[in-house]
Amino acid sequence: MGERYLGANIPKLGFGLMRLPQLSDESIDIEQVKKMVDAFMEAGFTYFDTAYVYGNGASELAAKAALIDRYPRESYQLATKLPVWDYTTPEDIRKMFETSMQRTQAGYFDFYLMHNVNRNNIADFDRLNVWDYVQDLKKQGLIKNAGFSFHDTAEMLDNLLTKHPYVDFVQLQINYIDWDSESVQSRKCYEVARKHHKPIIVMEPVKGGALAALSEEIQSMYKAVNPELSIPSWAVRFVASLDGLITVLSSMSSLEQMQDNLSYMKNFRPLTQEEYSTIAKAVNILNNIPTVPCTACKYCIDDCPQQINIPGIFKALNNYRIYQNISKESSRYQEATKEGGVAKDCLKCGICETHCPQHLEIRKLLQEASSVFDS
Ligand code: SF4
Ligand code: SF4
Repeated sequence: MGERYLGANIPKLGFGLMRLPQLSDESIDIEQVKKMVDAFMEAGFTYFDTAYVYGNGASELAAKAALIDRYPRESYQLATKLPVWDYTTPEDIRKMFETSMQRTQAGYFDFYLMHNVNRNNIADFDRLNVWDYVQDLKKQGLIKNAGFSFHDTAEMLDNLLTKHPYVDFVQLQINYIDWDSESVQSRKCYEVARKHHKPIIVMEPVKGGALAALSEEIQSMYKAVNPELSIPSWAVRFVASLDGLITVLSSMSSLEQMQDNLSYMKNFRPLTQEEYSTIAKAVNILNNIPTVPCTACKYCIDDCPQQINIPGIFKALNNYRIYQNISKESSRYQEATKEGGVAKDCLKCGICETHCPQHLEIRKLLQEASSVFDS
């Protein structure tokens, strides 16, 4: 692909606007986001990633307030995404694009993605002919590049890229713990994208924060190789060392996280052989602790009739599985469920499972959480 592929010149850290800092009333802390945007731009980074659904529109509005209103349009790249549900109509599609445009006032989107393409919604993307719709937007100059974010098997990705060879790029879940996993298939999906000569945007390099909070044993291993580097930096540098990337998205929630990311991505140094071997050892240890591979995307929550905070419960369950600290994790569980249903309120309707990009057996896992925390 050489240096001439789409996105070759884009710096390899992208600001994911999914988990922005919040005020006590849970609205986005725009002043804090502005500081983060300023630090990011000042360090030479330019890629911002939002979506129609993030924060019910609050993320696109935050992009306007903190970025679009404050920086020249040509000084950054903005990406947003178009979702579909089984009740979506062609009119909804058009309205969602227009709403994204209205919220952001960006004039055009540099990267426009069909959001979270997977086996459960591909028929809806096809039925609504979203493929042609976004190509049309591109012809009109309203978007510059059209692609999709993908959450399924490498085989499905191969079929899609064969059927739609005109897409400009793909966005994939890649991280070191899923590199060889059979569920997420990071490596296989990466190889398929490379085979089709599609540049790649990486999402969830730290697996929704899971690779930032590792056991003492793994943390000591990393610190022994390089005491200066943070634990999440290993995960981000692992993916940033791959070829053919447009950028690596990191969903940053604080200035502190932003500054940590900038500290090692500003003068990026690919992993050394010793660092790769250390990660391989960590993967080996982690693979022997079975945890729920929830990325905290929250796609499961909106339609849950009991409003159960599924990712919050899984976080407590995972920590309990690893550390067995029942009092600490019970507090986390209570905090996570204080505004909605608890695990034992699950009606087993299964709606959440149709939205889960990780194909988790949510009902079964909630039963396990209930037996740990609801007694
Ligand atoms: S199965 Fe349980 S958690 Fe899932 S949507 Fe239904 S009630 Fe909510
Ligand atoms: S359970 Fe699935 S849909 Fe829900 S937050 Fe976790 S990964 Fe996302």
